[in-house]
Amino acid sequence: MENCLYAAQGCGGCSLLATPYETQLLQKQARVDELLTPFCVTEPIIGMETPYHYRNKAILSFAPLPHSRRFASGIYAAGSHRLVPVTDCLLQDARLTEVLQKAAEAAANCHLPAWDEDREAGLLRHMVARRGVKTGEISLAVVTAEAVFPGSRDFTKAVTKACPDIVTVVQNINTRKTSAVLGDTEKVLFGKGFLTDELCGSRFQISTRAFYQVNPVQTEKLYALALEYAGLTGKETVLDAYCGIGTIALTAAKKAKSVASVELSADAVRNARHNARMNGIENAVFACGDAGEALEGAANAGERFDVVFLDPPREGASEQFLASLDRAAPKRAVYVSCNPETLARDLSFLKKRGWHVLRARPVDMFPHTEHVETVVLMSRAKD
Ligand code: SAH
Repeated sequence: MENCLYAAQGCGGCSLLATPYETQLLQKQARVDELLTPFCVTEPIIGMETPYHYRNKAILSFAPLPHSRRFASGIYAAGSHRLVPVTDCLLQDARLTEVLQKAAEAAANCHLPAWDEDREAGLLRHMVARRGVKTGEISLAVVTAEAVFPGSRDFTKAVTKACPDIVTVVQNINTRKTSAVLGDTEKVLFGKGFLTDELCGSRFQISTRAFYQVNPVQTEKLYALALEYAGLTGKETVLDAYCGIGTIALTAAKKAKSVASVELSADAVRNARHNARMNGIENAVFACGDAGEALEGAANAGERFDVVFLDPPREGASEQFLASLDRAAPKRAVYVSCNPETLARDLSFLKKRGWHVLRARPVDMFPHTEHVETVVLMSRAKD
């Protein structure tokens, strides 16, 4: 068991750190077992061999120091905007922690003013760094409170010199009074606006605002399980709903006849289409929109899928999506869930319509935190 000096200062990033990892896994298993009792017996949780430094994305936040032109940087304490000056972290990829420290130094040397939430003045709100652990490529997003970014050239020059593994620097503009980190507008300051990583034997371009699983080691296990549940033979028509940058879709496309996919984020869809081309995959298409609307449209048009993957955000799938899934009547559906509570709710919706859960297995994507991922195989006919 490792200790973290920042836990005492309220960081809260690893809320379960004091619990031995084996016990964490038992607790997560018990939680998923209990929620899924009405549907099936779950298989044993897939834990992580070395459950540290797994996060491929890290955020550093900024605030002005009182009576000074300098700023403080760190991670927000649990449930507040008080900064804990974390310079070493057990969850993050160690290189990301270093890069963010160098980026904060570059910002200080360039005299960038931190955003002051109370006075609503200043510029620098956060920095978000992501690392492709297979390629070593790093993207850095500098979140500013305004579009005008004086000193951006000097900052970019300094940070890319200090960290040659940064392949792109993006200014993300977040003018809103919100605790959401990223805003909707971006300017590329250096590089191409994305990094490239490898996962499950394919290469993926990933933009700052597109979703990408934060634990790449466990993601390969998660997708392998989802693919095993899907039982693809090369003949199936597949739907990947909530597809992100196309990671599941493109992995499945190699084992299916065709894959249609839908995703709300335009940035992610742009990445997904590019990723298909980059990997020479010609049997996958991507639509931008709401998954529920798209599946309802497909069901109305009489389109048929043999297998549907769904990997919705924490709030789960919409009723429109689930009702349309039932009408579209695929042979199998594989639900990848990051929230067992909404998973149980959605399974209960489908159970009332005659669906059965055939297999379910938790995967620990987020060691030392409360979160747990679950993969479920469902079908309408009990086979
Ligand atoms: N399967 C992908 C992404 C899963 S995260 C992966 O493993 O990487 C969930 C995704 O759902 C995010 O990319 C998010 O942008 C998308 N999303 C959120 N609400 C949506 C909706 N209503 N319709 C379609 N996609 C949605």
